[in-house]
Amino acid sequence: MKFQAIKGTRDILPPDSTLWNQVEQTAREVFASYNFNEIRPPIFEQTELFARSIGAETDVVAKEMYTFEDRDDSSISLRPEATASVCRAYIEHGMQTLPGNVKLHYMGPMFRRERPQKGRYRQFYQIGAEVLGQSDAPAIDAEVIEMLLAFFEKAGLANATLSVNSIGDKNCRPQYIELLRAELQKVKAQLGPDSQRRIETNPLRVLDSKLPEEQAIIENLPRIADHLCDSCRTHFAKLQDELKLRGILYEINWRLVRGLDYYTRTTFEIVAPGLGSQNAVCGGGRYDGLVELLGGPPTKGIGFAIGTDRLILSLQETGKAAAKKGLDVYVAWMGEKSYAPAVKLARKLRDSGFAVELPPEEMKFKKSLGLADKLGARYALIIGEDEVASGQLTLKHLADGRQQKYSEAGLLEHLRETRQT
Ligand code: ATP
Ligand code: MG
Repeated sequence: MKFQAIKGTRDILPPDSTLWNQVEQTAREVFASYNFNEIRPPIFEQTELFARSIGAETDVVAKEMYTFEDRDDSSISLRPEATASVCRAYIEHGMQTLPGNVKLHYMGPMFRRERPQKGRYRQFYQIGAEVLGQSDAPAIDAEVIEMLLAFFEKAGLANATLSVNSIGDKNCRPQYIELLRAELQKVKAQLGPDSQRRIETNPLRVLDSKLPEEQAIIENLPRIADHLCDSCRTHFAKLQDELKLRGILYEINWRLVRGLDYYTRTTFEIVAPGLGSQNAVCGGGRYDGLVELLGGPPTKGIGFAIGTDRLILSLQETGKAAAKKGLDVYVAWMGEKSYAPAVKLARKLRDSGFAVELPPEEMKFKKSLGLADKLGARYALIIGEDEVASGQLTLKHLADGRQQKYSEAGLLEHLRETRQT
């Protein structure tokens, strides 16, 4: 029996995991600078939480969730996204009593049973953030987008493009959907089976279609921008002013609707290069009303979710992946008497923040240095019995073979001075 990772899941291995950590660390730093704090919700929840919030008719809930019966017969699902959990937590912990807007970020695995392909997995990862509170000021939407782009810039993602749209609210969207449905009925025969089905279940999703034969038909459908109510129209105009104020470039994509039911007004998406057809690296939008739908107080909300797998792929494909910080010192000890000093010195170097490899068993000098080379160490620190007796340690720079003797204090000082960040 040969075990393998389940289809659509994968191991993130070194050196890739180093890049993952750097990207996640960058997110933590940038989000903290915008005063967001981390929430770590559980990975599974009651199935009903997702069905209610995302929408029972959506693909995510209808086809893609990993749902199982727990031993007490309750229905549980692995989270396909985290906004529902954040809203559930907001209600459960009475966060509406906290001062100001509640600004939370999260990162972790999500689960959707989709057809695995490049940039699409069954266990994938998201980095996301949400703002919940009493205000729906467009400045919040714009600041969230600014933070997102600041993060992408710091992470090294070049040429990301931002699209925005407004999909109205409960005052104007229902009428638009009815109009859209009526227009879609007229062209039903020319549409594929998926879009035909969506005329009934979720007509907005037809706008998302990538089928070449449907594109000309979709171009002629009524556009929501022409059917927004006054307050949604004003909100969208102010959002654009706020984006311009921040020097953020964007394009308006009237077909940007997002797959989850709970969105209202602002929706946005970011597309990155190097990803083929799975090129959306972030989706987000406003979801005023979601907290209330889940049984909480009237609350405004906006957030986004970045597909971390795709972000990393894009960084790698565009050559922007940050260099891996490698092994600093390989401690080449030889002779029984040098072992104890080597262990102690390794600990000191590690405490000072250097990455150190200490061979667990004695090795022949040549073999030991050969391994230091293969591991990509910057330095080999040679500790033989002579070195222990004299207190002078030999540091060998592996790239050019230069050697120099140091006392322990001198060694630490030299390493600190030449430290690679
Ligand atoms: P897509 O149109 O690519 O299916 P989506 O609309 O389903 O995306 P969201 O639910 O908005 O995506 O999730 C936000 C982000 O999460 C996406 O932009 C994408 O980067 C990422 N994502 C979604 N599903 C997957 C998946 N199965 N594998 C990897 N990343 C994913
Ligand atoms: Mg999807």
